[in-house]
This record gives sequence, structure tokens and C-alpha cells, in this order.
Amino acid sequence: MDYQSFFVDAINALHSEKRYRVFADLERIVGRFPHAIWRSERGAREITVWCSNDYLGMGHHADVVRAMAETAQGLGTGAGGTRNISGNSHPIVELEAELADLHGKEAGLVFSSGFVSNDAAISTIAKLLPDCLILSDELNHASMIEGIRRSGAQKRIFRHNDLEHLEELLKEAAPGRAKLIVFESVYSMDGDIAPIAGICDLAEKYGAMTYIDEVHAVGMYGPRGGGMAERDGVMHRIDVIEGTLAKAFGTFGGYITASRAVVDAVRSYAPGFIFTTALPPAICAATTASIRHLKASQVERDLQQKHAQLTKSVLIHAGLPVMPSETHIVPLFVGNPDLCKRASDMLLEEHGIYIQPINYPTVPRGTERLRITPTPCHDEALIYGLRDALIDVWHRLWLPLGRTAPANVGRMVAGGSRFEVFPPAGG
Ligand SMILES: *Cc1c(COP(=O)(O)O)cnc(C)c1O
Repeated sequence: MDYQSFFVDAINALHSEKRYRVFADLERIVGRFPHAIWRSERGAREITVWCSNDYLGMGHHADVVRAMAETAQGLGTGAGGTRNISGNSHPIVELEAELADLHGKEAGLVFSSGFVSNDAAISTIAKLLPDCLILSDELNHASMIEGIRRSGAQKRIFRHNDLEHLEELLKEAAPGRAKLIVFESVYSMDGDIAPIAGICDLAEKYGAMTYIDEVHAVGMYGPRGGGMAERDGVMHRIDVIEGTLAKAFGTFGGYITASRAVVDAVRSYAPGFIFTTALPPAICAATTASIRHLKASQVERDLQQKHAQLTKSVLIHAGLPVMPSETHIVPLFVGNPDLCKRASDMLLEEHGIYIQPINYPTVPRGTERLRITPTPCHDEALIYGLRDALIDVWHRLWLPLGRTAPANVGRMVAGGSRFEVFPPAGG
């Protein structure tokens, strides 16, 4: 049997759909964020990154870098084991206390990544609840969908951010049945926000537990960077708050915070937590430094919002199809995978501007886009430079200018197949 041919065919299928992914070879430069060195066949050159999830530039912050370096010098590099067998370090214990405090919860638990935290926590919580029904927003992240799948629990999907539909589904479930509502606060590809208080009202009315993914909000919203639920004053009404350490906090790892009982149960039953090496102490110490800084400092949050607002208004004024986002995320609609890739290539190769094309399965087919993330370090000059480069690319690719992005792009989900990375069997 020609085993290799199966893999080659699978890759060719991606090429023919114009969604084969190419990673940019980058080297970030401390002190020069958001600039980086990009290496290609044509050599190395300096470019500006416009699509980083190091949303506040904390990955370069002097206190954070110093905490990581000093801890590695003092305590070594790796953790040396799982949490249970020799890998539990004082920095990880401190980090979990810091996270619990950030969200006003009894306890916190750190995982290898945000993906793992969703997968491990959702699957474990839903398994421990007898006959649990999961109610899941249709635009939930792949990591949450994976956790839901692996729980084996029954799931019902509610239309994106649609409280009426969620209530319909809650009403249809038996009153005494265990229910878990799983949703995000900021949806990262569209930049819209969940009606968190409304979901909490429904959860209380119908006796459901709530699980929120605040990955794209922690550090950036709320007076201490506790996320959208903190901003809206509803953190105490959410049962489980999940986040990442790898985006606005600028380091690596994921976490949940919740009651002592929920955290202890996940700690004790989730294979994705138990059977893997703990985060290195240096990562934990750096993260704690980052969280502490952002609890006290408003400067980064204010500048990020200011630059995101300016980017949106400058691009809209130029007639570029900015999708309606309520947050720091600025998605530009393209609607075609080939054009999206070509726009991205032209920006990088000719203008030194790096914005990775976003295609299926990250977003539904036909809604391909450029996702721009202005940070505190993207100043006015960079924003106007971005506008000029985008106009040039839009003209040369004959992309429409002066038209708004189609409304409700997030709703253009084709039959729930959004996250099928593999082609459906027989199709
Ligand atoms: C990025 C992301 C995650 C995963 O976090 P990592 O720390 O990168 O693994 C989880 N949920 C959402 C919504 C995300 O965008």
C-alpha cells in the first residue's frame, strides 16, 4: 500500500480549496514591538505585525521578561514532573492564587494551554454532572467543541448570542435536569460580545450552570483586567471562568477559576490535567508579574482601545469593509480564500505588513477575512500606513471599496460544519 499518497492527497485537497496554510517565519524584537524580523527565501527583513494576540505587548514588558529570566536562573527551566509527581512549584501555586483573586473565585487551576483547559474542564465537568445537557453557542471555539464532544453529554446549539433561542432550548429541557451553558465573552473572529448578564438571568431562571471562555477579554476589559464579566459586574454570577495566559498576559498556558469544589474535581478527574507535565516555574512567575501589572495599570487597556477605535474609523473612512466589531478586534471582510491569501501576501511582501489570512475552518467558508489587532504600540503613523497599504492592495485585487461588510457575517455558518477540519465522510 502507498501510505504516503493518503497524506499527499489530503494536502492537495487543501491546496485546491486555496486554504493550505503557510506559517510566517518571524522573530520578535524586545523593545521594538510590534516590529519583527521576517525570514523568507528572499532573506530577512523587518516588518510590522498587525495580527498578534499578544494584545497588549506584555510578552515584551520588562517586568515580565525579567521575572521569567530570573526564575529560570534560580529554579531552572522545566517543571520536572506532573503536578502530582514533583512538578508542583511555588510559582504555579502563587499564579493560581493570583488568578482566583483576579476573578473573585475560591480557586484557580492552570493547564498547558487555553485549548487544553477548555477541553479538559468542559469534558470533566459535564461528565461529573448526571445526564448533563450542554447548551453551546454556535460560534464557540474549537477547544470548547472538543470538550463538549469528549464529555459524551447531549448538546444543543443555540444561535449566536441569541437569548430567545437559548431560553427556548432551556424551556424544552426537563426542569430537574443538569444543564451547562457554554459560551465566550468576546468572539475573537468577529469581535462581538455575549450578553453575559442576560445569559446569567436565564441560567438562574432555569437552574443551569454557566461556563464562560474569557480568552479574548482577560487583561483587556474590566478595571483590573478580569474580563468582560468583570466589566459588566457579573463575575460572581458565572460558575466557571476560563482564560488563557498566552494572549493579553503575553506568556503561555490556560486556566479555569471556580468554586473550590469544581476546581478540586477537575484537578482530580481530568486526564488532560493529571497526565501532563506542569507549566515551568519561569512561565508561571512571568505570568503572575503580567497579571499583577495589568491589575493596577490602565495605560495599556486605554491605549489599546484608542488605537483600535482609530484603526476602525480610519479604515471605514477609506471605504474598507470593516466588519462591525464592538471590541479591540478589527476584522476586514474579504469573503474568498484565494483573494484573502493574495491580499495577505501582497501586504507582507510589498508593504512589510503582516496580517495572516483567516480561512476555514477558523471561520465559515465565504467569510474569509483579514483580522487586525491594534495594540498599545500601533501608533497613529502605523495606522495611517496600514490604511494606505490596504487601499493599494484593494485596488490591485479589484476588491470592492466603499461598501460595508455584509451584516451578520458571524451567522453565515453552514450547517454547523464550521469546525470539521476533516472533509466529511463521503463528501
Ligand atoms: C486561543 C483560544 C483558546 C486557546 O487558548 P490557547 O492558550 O492559545 O491554547 C481558547 N478559546 C478561544 C476562544 C481562543 O481564541
